[in-house]
Amino acid sequence: MIEKILDRALLGEDISPAEGVALLQVTETAEKEAIRAVADTLRYRQVGDTVTYVLNRNINYTNICEQHCSFCAFRRDADQAGAYWVDWSGILAKASEAAALGATEVCMQGGLNPQAKINGTSLAYYCKLVETIKAASPNLHVHAFSPQEVQFIAREDGLSWETVLVALKDVGVGSLPGTAAEVLDDSVRRILCPEKTTATEWLEIVGLAHQVGLPTTSTMLSGHIETLTQQMVHLDLLRQLQQRARSAGYRGITEFILLPFVGQEAPKPLRRRVGRDQPVLADALLLTAVARIFLGNWIVNHQPSWVKLGLAGATEALRWGCNDIGGILMEEHITSMAGAMGGTCQSEADLVGAIAH
Ligand code: SF4
Repeated sequence: MIEKILDRALLGEDISPAEGVALLQVTETAEKEAIRAVADTLRYRQVGDTVTYVLNRNINYTNICEQHCSFCAFRRDADQAGAYWVDWSGILAKASEAAALGATEVCMQGGLNPQAKINGTSLAYYCKLVETIKAASPNLHVHAFSPQEVQFIAREDGLSWETVLVALKDVGVGSLPGTAAEVLDDSVRRILCPEKTTATEWLEIVGLAHQVGLPTTSTMLSGHIETLTQQMVHLDLLRQLQQRARSAGYRGITEFILLPFVGQEAPKPLRRRVGRDQPVLADALLLTAVARIFLGNWIVNHQPSWVKLGLAGATEALRWGCNDIGGILMEEHITSMAGAMGGTCQSEADLVGAIAH
């Protein structure tokens, strides 16, 4: 059974979600190694042997958030200890420093703060964030605002999602992070992120981003309460979304990034339910390989998260179907506040060393 699925994948065929589940259910070391080897071969065929990375800076402009995702150790209420909100000079300084250090990209995401407005509008605030980055250096690529942030701005200002996306693009956003996807299954989302977009809304906003000319990445938060079937349904929804983008001539999804759950500092109920603090590397690697096999004909770039897995784990993932090791980040708050052991930044030399390993 496993052999037949892998043979079909090697012929360049798309495997089905049920076949993906069968691959995720293997327990024998030899079978896992066969899956790894096929993922590695497909990675080579689809993108070659070059491992990519980006010199980027993360700017998490605020951790004040109106929502209460059950996995989130980053959010704070406005009056809570540890709440922060980076002011305009701080944003400018971070972007200027990034540009001076050779960064080509700023990745910007933050909490959903209803107070974050200019002249009463959220969109004006988010546009000013982008303009401030561009004022520091017009050449910085701005990879910013999750589909959840797009929905939040639209709701606050009574605008359509498309209007928000077009305005953000016009002011200089170059691409959207495909975060807030978590697991695209509403029964999981009700436990993980009950106030976030539904799965259908997430897919619709990302599809609209593609339509207005904004490519996106795609993600999955894995290794918590979701089943193997839900993992494969998630990957299938991403594959279908990309197929729609491609048939319409859009660039669509540029990359898939697996984000294994880190529970160490997460709110207690979910942490207790999951029952561990750090990701299980073996599970993350097998899912990494299956994601390559399942998505690779449509989404060729696959990135592990060194923040979640540590650099050694991410380096190992390069043997399991990944071809991109991500960015140096310069500072990372969201996962490190959740207790991740991977650190908050890497030097370029560290990333190059991991790639060469
Ligand atoms: S994951 Fe994002 S939306 Fe959810 S609570 Fe944390 S900061 Fe807010």
